[in-house]
Amino acid sequence: MSAFPHRHLLGIEGLTPPEVTALLDRSESYVEQNRRADKKKSVLRGRTVINLFFEASTRTRTSFELAGKRLGGDVINMSVSTSAIRKGETVLDTAMTLNAMHPDVLVVRHPESGAVKLLSEKVNCCVINAGDGSHEHPTQALLDALTIRRRLGRLEGLEVAICGDIVHSRVARSNIHLLAIMGARVRLVAPHTLIPAEAERLGVEVFHDMHEGLKGCDIVMMLRLQTERMQGNFLPSIREYFHFFGLDYDKMANAKPEALIMHPGPMNRGVEIDSVVADDYSRSVIHEQVEMGVAVRMACLELLSANLVEAPQHNI
Ligand code: ASP
Repeated sequence: MSAFPHRHLLGIEGLTPPEVTALLDRSESYVEQNRRADKKKSVLRGRTVINLFFEASTRTRTSFELAGKRLGGDVINMSVSTSAIRKGETVLDTAMTLNAMHPDVLVVRHPESGAVKLLSEKVNCCVINAGDGSHEHPTQALLDALTIRRRLGRLEGLEVAICGDIVHSRVARSNIHLLAIMGARVRLVAPHTLIPAEAERLGVEVFHDMHEGLKGCDIVMMLRLQTERMQGNFLPSIREYFHFFGLDYDKMANAKPEALIMHPGPMNRGVEIDSVVADDYSRSVIHEQVEMGVAVRMACLELLSANLVEAPQHNI
C-alpha cells in the first residue's frame, strides 16, 4: 500500500496526518540531495510532466520544473492566457488535447477555484494543484510545514499567526487545513474586510489587531495583498494598511523571541512587511521556504507517479 494512496494532489483538506507526514518525510530526503553537486535521480525516467499554468508564476513553476528535471523526468512548460477565452471550455479543451499526448503528471495553476479539480476528472494522468483561485495551494502549505518542522522540530502544539489578505489567499486556506491536521493552532490576523466569512467554521481564532494576534506565537506568516483579486475597496490606503498590519519589529516584539517570519512570496516590501524585517535572516525563513519548495515538489511527483501503475484508465 502506498504511503500516499491518492491519484491526485488537489488540496490539503481531507488528507490524514500520516499522509502529510509521508509527504514531509519523503521531502526531507530530497533537501540533502538538492544541496549536493550531483542533484539528479532517475525516479521519473521515462515520465512526462507538463506544467500547465493559466496564471502567471515565477517560483512555483520554476520549482516544479526543477523538481521534475532533478528526478529525471521530461518536463514541458505551458503558459496559457485565459483573458479572451471562455474559461470553463478552455480548461476542458486543453485537458483533452494534452491528455491525448499521454503525460504522466499535469501540474496545473488556474485563476478559478475548482478549475483544477474539474480538469483532473477528465484526464488519465495524475494532477497536482499548483494553485486554484483563492481555494488551495497544497505544495505551498507542505513546503511551509517542512520549513517549520525542520526549524522547530514539530508542528503539533505550535501557535501560528497567518496575517494579511486571508480572504483571497489559497496559501492561507491550505495552511489552515494542514496546520489543523497536524495539531497546530491557527490565528488569523487581518482587517474585517480581509477575513473570509467561513473563518469560524475553519476552527481558527480571529484577531483584528496585530499586537494582540501575534502575542506569544511561534510563527508569523505574512501574506501578500492580492490586489489583482480585489474588486472594490477593501482598504482605505496602502499606507494605513502598512501602519496597522504591516510586519515591523514593533509588532514582531509581541511574538515569542525565537518566532520565525514566513512569507510565500512574491513579497510587497513596505506593504505587508517591512524590508528590514524580511531581510533579517536570524528570524526570516523566506529563502528556506523556496528551498523546501523544490524538495516538496520532488516528493509529490515521486509519490503520485509511483501510484500510476495501478491507476485505472478512463475515457474522456
Ligand atoms: N505565490 C502564492 C500564490 O500563488 C502567494 C501569492 O501569490 O501571494 O498564491
